[in-house]
Amino acid sequence: MEIAIIAHDGMKAEMVQFLNKNKDILAKEDINLVATGTTGSKAEKAGFTVTKMLSGPMGGDAQIAARVAEGKTNMVFFFKDPLANHPHEADINMLMRVCDVHNVPLATNSATAELLLQAITVQQS
Ligand code: PGA
Repeated sequence: MEIAIIAHDGMKAEMVQFLNKNKDILAKEDINLVATGTTGSKAEKAGFTVTKMLSGPMGGDAQIAARVAEGKTNMVFFFKDPLANHPHEADINMLMRVCDVHNVPLATNSATAELLLQAITVQQS
C-alpha cells in the first residue's frame, strides 16, 4: 500500500508527531510512503524511508495527484494549514478533487488520519 504524506509548514510538527506515534504501522514493509519534498525530509529525519517528490509549491502536490490518478497511491494524509494562505492553492484543490474522483481515502487532519490507520490495522488482522 502506498500512502502519501503532505503537511503545510504550520502542520509539519504535527505530521512528525503523528508519524512517530504510528511508527509500528507506518514503518511496515508493505507500506510505502511518498511525500512532498520538505515533508519527506522531515519524515526521513524522524527515521522513515520515504520517496520524495518536489516541494508542494513547486509541483509536489500535483505529482502526488498524478500518482492518485494512476492508481499508485492508495491513501493520502494531507495535513492542511487552515490558517495560512498558500501560493499553490490550485494544486491543493486539484489533489483533493482527484482523490474524490478516484475514491481514494484522504485525511486532511491528524484525527481522520488516525481513523484511517485504524482501518488498515483492522483490515490486516
Ligand atoms: P512541502 O510541501 O512538504 O514541500 O513543504 C507541502 C505543501 O505545501 O503542499
